[in-house]
Amino acid sequence: MKITFLGAAQNVTGSKHLIQSEDYRLLLDCGQFQGKRKISNELNRNLPFKAEEINAVILSHAHLDHCGTLPVLVKNGFQGKIYCTEATAKIARYILEDSANLQEQDAEYINRHLKRKEPEVLPTFTKEDVENVLSHFQYVEYSNSNNNWTQLNENIRFKFYDAGHVLGSAVTFIEIKENGVVKTLAYSGDLGREFLPILRSPEVIQEPAENLILECTYGDRLHKPMQDLQGELQKIIGEAFNKKSKIIVPAFSLERTQEIVYILHYMIDKKKIPALPIYVDSPLSDKITQVFSDFTEYFDKEFWDDFGRNNELPFFADNIVYTKSTEESKALNSKSGPCIIIAGSGMAEGGRILHHLKNNIENSDNIVLITGYQAENTLGRRIQEGISPAKIFGEEYNVKAKVFTLDELSAHADQNDLLAYVGTVKNLKNLFLVHTETDHAEAFLQLVKKTYPALTVNIPAQDMSVEV
Ligand SMILES: [Zn+2]
Repeated sequence: MKITFLGAAQNVTGSKHLIQSEDYRLLLDCGQFQGKRKISNELNRNLPFKAEEINAVILSHAHLDHCGTLPVLVKNGFQGKIYCTEATAKIARYILEDSANLQEQDAEYINRHLKRKEPEVLPTFTKEDVENVLSHFQYVEYSNSNNNWTQLNENIRFKFYDAGHVLGSAVTFIEIKENGVVKTLAYSGDLGREFLPILRSPEVIQEPAENLILECTYGDRLHKPMQDLQGELQKIIGEAFNKKSKIIVPAFSLERTQEIVYILHYMIDKKKIPALPIYVDSPLSDKITQVFSDFTEYFDKEFWDDFGRNNELPFFADNIVYTKSTEESKALNSKSGPCIIIAGSGMAEGGRILHHLKNNIENSDNIVLITGYQAENTLGRRIQEGISPAKIFGEEYNVKAKVFTLDELSAHADQNDLLAYVGTVKNLKNLFLVHTETDHAEAFLQLVKKTYPALTVNIPAQDMSVEV
């Protein structure tokens, strides 16, 4: 079996790993590269293989950096199936449609401002391209609920374990028979952590796996424990309530939005915070929340204790409002506090959150609550770092609102979680660290070598191949 690392190799975006055995080509994830526009555009447009030669794709979860070039793959002649959980397929559709929309709007804007002779910009894919992906999805259940394998051909089969990262996310375990010998490979996709709201903890792989491709986003750091979160929120929201503040929360539409709504709803029920109005101002979050409502069987035990037992869903209550139209969104400007407004995008790079920041950031009674990772060079990061004025829609605004960061909610395993996970894999020989910056991976590599000296650990570079 040959593994070629075609994305998220010494990098955190564009997840794509090609597994070849004899003449079968299996792609693990088909994600979008993100970052500098020109370079990522090239990488996302030109796939490093012939699409029609890929026999199948296994999709670990619905984040764009894992599913975001599926429309390009299909457009270029891919004929096979895309295996994923049903929740992943449903969410991926909305994520891809949203990306197509943004790309179409972006291209239109750039083309309107082109200088003479500059070539026209085209989106990497359109909504029609996304539509063509849908018929390729083949749903696979987690193996705990049916111990059946999915057979790809007579020599290759796989099963899914819950990765606990976002709804529907899966760790894949693959068996490949080559010349009568069974070879084994596990792929973490993105790995979650214990105690996240809604999601179950990542599952341990039951079979021995000689090879593991492991995400290593936080290989060099530890997250704050989840147990601190409610105390912090109680303080922030209690004060905001007395001052009638507006709390503006940039949040990712998948998972983070549902988690925040879950925690707030829970704390209101337990009378830890007052029942202030909560507005979820994102059409994408609204659609994804509907998918969550359809897949409560994937939720953890705490959900059943907190809400499920009473036939209640955490996402809906009298004080939780999902705004649909642009008019409803604009009307939030004239509402007085206290209230919480949750909107995308998660790093404040676009979307409705920009309007709310623009309208509220100059008032010192208001609050900006950062709940997720903010990449360099994003507006979210600049606000988080206290840089003022903030530039929004080309205008400068003095940042007078208080800014708080809650990093307890990270959906990725931290250093301790990753190390423990490696320890649960039986018979492991080769570990490949992906979805990481080189220095984070290097720190983790040293730690793994110290803890498990018999392991061979690699940090594969882009396009590197190994035979195992
Ligand atoms: Zn992810």
